[in-house]
Amino acid sequence: MSKQVFTQVIRGAHEWVRQAEEALEKAVEEHGPDTPIGWGGHTAYCLPMSYSLMGLEVKTVGGLKDQVAHARELLRPVPSDDLWLPYLGDGLDAGAATMLAQEALVALKTVNGYQASSNGWQGFISDTIMRELGIQLVDGRMPGFALILGPAPTTELAVKTVRELQSRSILTFLCANRDGKTMREQMVEGGVFQDDAPLEECWDLYVVPVGPETLDGIYVLNWSIRSALTFGGHKRGESRKCLNYTKRRIHAFGITFGDIPDDWYAMGAGAILMGYPVISDSTSTPVIHPTGVTVREAIRVETDPDKLVPTCIDTRAVKVKIEKIDIPVGYAAAFEGERVRKDDMHVQFGFKYSDAVEYAFMVEPNEINDGDVEVTGPDIDSVEPGKAMPLCMEVLIAGRKMQRDFEGIMERQIHRWTSHAMGFMHTGQRDQIWCRVSKKAFNAGFRLEHLGTILHAKLHDEYGGIVDKVAVRISTEPEKVKEVVARASEAFTHRDDRIAGMTDESVDVFYSCTVCQSYAPDHVCVITPQRLGLCGAYNWLDGRANYEINPAGPNQPIPKGRTLDLDKGEWEGVNKFVYENSNRKVERFCAYSLLEAPMTSCGCFECIVAILPLANGVMVVNREFLEITPSGMSFGELASATGGGAQTPGFVGVGRLYLSSPKFLSADGGVKRLVWMPKALKEGIRERFRKEAERVGEPDLLDKIATEEDATTEEEVLAHMEKVGHPALSLDPLM
Ligand code: SF4
Repeated sequence: MSKQVFTQVIRGAHEWVRQAEEALEKAVEEHGPDTPIGWGGHTAYCLPMSYSLMGLEVKTVGGLKDQVAHARELLRPVPSDDLWLPYLGDGLDAGAATMLAQEALVALKTVNGYQASSNGWQGFISDTIMRELGIQLVDGRMPGFALILGPAPTTELAVKTVRELQSRSILTFLCANRDGKTMREQMVEGGVFQDDAPLEECWDLYVVPVGPETLDGIYVLNWSIRSALTFGGHKRGESRKCLNYTKRRIHAFGITFGDIPDDWYAMGAGAILMGYPVISDSTSTPVIHPTGVTVREAIRVETDPDKLVPTCIDTRAVKVKIEKIDIPVGYAAAFEGERVRKDDMHVQFGFKYSDAVEYAFMVEPNEINDGDVEVTGPDIDSVEPGKAMPLCMEVLIAGRKMQRDFEGIMERQIHRWTSHAMGFMHTGQRDQIWCRVSKKAFNAGFRLEHLGTILHAKLHDEYGGIVDKVAVRISTEPEKVKEVVARASEAFTHRDDRIAGMTDESVDVFYSCTVCQSYAPDHVCVITPQRLGLCGAYNWLDGRANYEINPAGPNQPIPKGRTLDLDKGEWEGVNKFVYENSNRKVERFCAYSLLEAPMTSCGCFECIVAILPLANGVMVVNREFLEITPSGMSFGELASATGGGAQTPGFVGVGRLYLSSPKFLSADGGVKRLVWMPKALKEGIRERFRKEAERVGEPDLLDKIATEEDATTEEEVLAHMEKVGHPALSLDPLM
């Protein structure tokens, strides 16, 4: 704890209390103790600070005596040079004394009757304004407010700071001066508002000049403490509850420019007591680390003008809502299912046309600046229309509540968030994405940076409770894309490994996923520990984590309920959930069967499993395989027959990892039914598949499975099986 800070705080508080005592004595002499003071019909809380902190109902000059006397009682001697004491408590008491003394001083200005705001300064803020704006503050629509003691060193910095706060819908109050210069003047010089702008206009702009003196800052604190009485339901005199309420519910902070004088420090201690940290741009200000009085640091220094507002937001843990996504095309959920056809396409990324990956990961807060979007490599205006480009989108996320477990969840939302941009098509996930930009969107000005704009805004919007900062790195440089694909693949493997060891029997609830209902309205993924979502991006832990952070979101717990058939994987609770969430289209769901009530398939599946009746087994084909399969259909043709949210016995979309699960079609014979798959897929799953093959007593099963090099028709598959002695030949008939 800084002795310097609290020495200045206590010294400043002594001065405020001295002024209040003098002014009170003078007012009693000149006007008499019974003269009314206060803001009349503009507040129901007398003098709100003494009403809430002391339980007083001060209505006259004489009534101020107890308030000012208590301010004096709270003061401790100014620390001496040779004595070290724990200063926090004394400093906070000095803050309370300052607020009581300041409130007495402004109340005494009403001794001749309350004069409403004048000369472009707001002065006292009424209960009406408190009710109108306070509800937005406490319910989060307005993320917070800033009280700036100014002016800033330059008009440019003053305007930049206010503009940044405006862009985040943070209400800004201006007060104080240095050598007569105020931040209100800087707003006029910088064109934020005119000198004769009515105060209503300033409120509309979210920039309110409160008063030219330091003392005027008390109007803001006196306004915000009333929220604890009005919205928090706390009673007069419940000081601890009121202060706890402002700390928890009012996301406010102070900003000071330049060296901080004693009287500002004293006022800052009052703000800190209410839970509002102070951010200074001066290197002479000591930092005060978290003590529990404020949510994070009580005093923080930020000398970089570009980081000043982000630092304030981080220090007060303000959750910013970005109302409008600033991109040149429409943005709405209605565009999510929009397809961009080949003839309407300006450029595409991924699928079989180019390398493409999206990857979200956690970083330390000091590694990124919130809102940074970096695009390297040629943008989409450099490409010949109709062609493909490589693409990587890295989303860097920082937040004091962020966890590695949330990375996959947030990453999977990229599909939904980017699809909401009119003219941008997105399917798939991880390194399996396929995106298109329409000619119309391109002509409207849509460029790669706008993907970053969307991701930054939506992460704050939907995960504001966890995310503090977001930066996006986009590249179309082939080498860079390859490097990110490799780095992301390692992370994807790590995420997939976390679930190893859990079984479906070891849990009572599964999780749903309905993210893909925009494309396939009846589709519900039922995610179990041993069967991940068919896109391959969500496992059971992801479902649980997403439910934790977004309880009303697409991942809901599904209590298994009574077991109807353990072998097929049928439970009463799951059937009920699927029925209610598939628009009452799907009545039964068997988790482990291809033939009886299989899971519905949307369109995002990594692979499709299809029956090969002649071979008494099943084939599996992954999205990247472009040739005709032994079923007589290509992946695309199979996808048309399987996708759309329908339940299609004999065909099912699956995630790649499910192929190595003990629960893979376990009701139909399990992995022993696998008779054909593309060579590349075989190599991709080899390591994981080996364990399951050994478990079922067929250690060389993978080598017995035919690939396109062994068989291209069902007959050739059968011939290959006979040649290698495939175990499916001795299983019960599939049909
Ligand atoms: S495929 Fe399933 S798990 Fe994946 S996003 Fe769609 S609904 Fe969710």
